[in-house]
Amino acid sequence: MTAIELVNPATEEVLGSVEHADVAAVDDAVARAKSAQRRWARLAPAERGAALRAFAAVVDAHVDELAALEVANSGHPIGSAEWEAGNVRDVLQFYAASPERLSGKQIPVAAGIDVTFHEPMGVVGVITPWNFPMVIATWGIAPALAAGNAVLVKPAEWTPLTTIRLGELAVEAGLDADLLQILPGRGSVVGERFVTHPDVRKVVFTGSTEVGKKVMGGAAAQVKRVTLELGGKSANIVFADCDLARAAATAPAGVFDNAGQDCCARSRILVQRSVYDQFMELLEPAVKSVVVGDPAARATEMGPLVSRAHRQKVASYVPADAPVAFRGTAPSGPGFWFPPTVLTPQRTDRSVADEIFGPVVTVLPFDDEADAVALANDTEYGLSGSIWTNDLSRAFRVSRAVESGNLSVNSHSSVRYSTPFGGFKQSGLGRELGPDTPFHFTETKNIFIAIQELKEEA
Ligand code: NAD
Repeated sequence: MTAIELVNPATEEVLGSVEHADVAAVDDAVARAKSAQRRWARLAPAERGAALRAFAAVVDAHVDELAALEVANSGHPIGSAEWEAGNVRDVLQFYAASPERLSGKQIPVAAGIDVTFHEPMGVVGVITPWNFPMVIATWGIAPALAAGNAVLVKPAEWTPLTTIRLGELAVEAGLDADLLQILPGRGSVVGERFVTHPDVRKVVFTGSTEVGKKVMGGAAAQVKRVTLELGGKSANIVFADCDLARAAATAPAGVFDNAGQDCCARSRILVQRSVYDQFMELLEPAVKSVVVGDPAARATEMGPLVSRAHRQKVASYVPADAPVAFRGTAPSGPGFWFPPTVLTPQRTDRSVADEIFGPVVTVLPFDDEADAVALANDTEYGLSGSIWTNDLSRAFRVSRAVESGNLSVNSHSSVRYSTPFGGFKQSGLGRELGPDTPFHFTETKNIFIAIQELKEEA
């Protein structure tokens, strides 16, 4: 076991340290999870539902504590952190209904009865990134438990605190301590062991496309099931016929939420050329008025970046000669601050192609609908996006043409727990959330029962 120091990104103060699990600890956890899973799967569906509702209730009683932990560990503004803790509760509550709804089918066949069952997979490994720690962990935990599995979670190295606390709250709610286990550690140790351990039957990975490819490659050796939620470079397409004032006023929130450390960030704004100048005039005050500062303060809209190393990476996209149109403000002094920044680069610039994962947005003009769709799709990613227009036909035409998993028209919302979420192309594989996800944590079993024909009675 080794330990890693955790740092408050808004103050650079050391918060403490967390012990890292090694391979032997993962193997021990898998063995205990296997037995816990058998006990869990034997419970009546209604009992599993009740246990998940109890877990949700305990989370509800600790929303303030979880939010404060996320403010300290990740630098999320308090309002966002409270929403995240509430989302954990709501997702648990939503999937608490699933154990009683995992119905199979009865299929008409000759000479018997054919029925399907949705069997749990066994032990599921969930690997999470640092940008929305407790929320993303729960999107894996809740449906996997609901389907009768045990779950091991490896949180990101920098931000494990809320996930560790969730594990404790599950035990407080009455769940078997071996059923949901949190294993902080290195990706190359704990994460990789989830991939190579034969008794981990599915890996849910959320993180960079680069590491996601490694996970998928490793999983192939055992034909292990994977769900991948990877990077994004989403477009916010602004047509001339839209409510331009609203499009400009909301564009900063669409990309600078969580300081741009959001896989769904609309980090490429595409604006119809005829309204480009007017849009930029409206966007400037909106960007300059984003309140960047102490994440614990209620008025704060944007906090710091997660770490010094990450700030360096983001800053590399804004060199001294970068085409900066305008910037917002950020505190000076300790903390990994970076101001909201608007770039107007060439279409071929690397700031247009790469996922920067910080508060940097590019704005490009387009000529017509076909050009907008071509630009929006000119990326290896396909996670989310927004379309601003008051023309209903255009809204549908463009929504259907953009190669992306989650689109919103005249808004920037994309993740609701009751609707499916995930990416096209290199943004991922499979879907999370929505009503069907528990089925993705099961194997379908088909059983045929022969029925003897009754001999013809005379
Ligand atoms: P990352 O890929 O560096 O790390 C993600 C997780 O994988 C961490 O827990 C890390 O320790 C672990 N890991 C690292 N190497 C591993 C290995 N060889 N085997 C197994 N696990 C390993 O990503 P990050 O920097 O933590 O997060 C940012 C990225 O996550 C961005 O690209 C972002 O777009 C993406 N993301 C995607 C979604 C989505 O739903 N599509 C959501 C949030 C974040």
